[in-house]
Amino acid sequence: MTLLDVRNLSKTYPGAGGSTVKAVSDVSFSIGPGEVLGVVGESGCGKSTLGRSLLRLIEPSAGEIHFDGRDLMELDRGQLKPVRKDLQIIFQDPFGALNPRHTVGGIIGEPLKVHRVGTRAERAARVAELLDLVGLPADAAKRYPHEFSGGQRQRIAIARALALNPKLLVADEAVSALDVSIQSQIINLIADLQKRLSLSIVFISHDLSVIRHVSDRIAVMYLGRIVEIGPSEELMTNPKHPYTQALLSAIPRPNVPRTGRIVLKGELPDPANPPAGCAFHTRCPHVMDVCHSDRPKLARPQEGEPDSPLEVACHLYKAA
Ligand code: SF4
Repeated sequence: MTLLDVRNLSKTYPGAGGSTVKAVSDVSFSIGPGEVLGVVGESGCGKSTLGRSLLRLIEPSAGEIHFDGRDLMELDRGQLKPVRKDLQIIFQDPFGALNPRHTVGGIIGEPLKVHRVGTRAERAARVAELLDLVGLPADAAKRYPHEFSGGQRQRIAIARALALNPKLLVADEAVSALDVSIQSQIINLIADLQKRLSLSIVFISHDLSVIRHVSDRIAVMYLGRIVEIGPSEELMTNPKHPYTQALLSAIPRPNVPRTGRIVLKGELPDPANPPAGCAFHTRCPHVMDVCHSDRPKLARPQEGEPDSPLEVACHLYKAA
């Protein structure tokens, strides 16, 4: 069963001097009910643009987003509003995402009010239930965001995102602004809520060590495209794409011997002027002549490891 099916999604922006910035290019994937897809890549790879495009908080330039049987790209604003009840997002900066003039109860209850759910008393009861769900005391409802720590503010943001019982949550760098010790608490909270509520989550992070804890599958993005996607365990233990291998070499992995860190040369190329062929060829330790001119397609490898469940965009592997 598929809850979210994204086909050939792209988002372009006008760049300097008449150029076109391709923030997201031709991205396709699907998520089932209760499944968590981690999306990882360096800052500027397009993962946050992708997350916002899924909810049409940013208008995609092309592609299809089928959610729960409806093509979101065909809905106008009025038709989109009820669907948004089922699609929520948590942002990186919990403080910036919370209105400092509203009480926590008002903030968490706002989606209920906007969608006219319940009476005033029922909404207050739901707020109390949500505070308990995210591990905050009931009296937090009367207080203001500035009275809480960063981790507690992210709990408030999560409670608000869950108010309408969404089916899909996009967590966009939801822990990267927090201290490392607090990060693990919030990751554990999200993982626990995901299981209890059977939530589907698109979990976006620049940090593979964060993503691996919560994801059933992982998609690795580079310069607006998915370059590798597949089950988390396989991707974490037997990655195919040289970029994934470099990302993984930077983090310690349980039960996997460290074989030395792969240090990538240079920075992420300018998305307004991406390299021809494989966009990773300017930094790839395995670059071949063909990589300069032909862009590899994302596909299951035919040669080498035909049984691998991973899909990879790399000329080192012949596509099935
Ligand atoms: Fe490296 Fe070529 Fe594979 Fe791109 S296609 S990742 S440049 S080997």
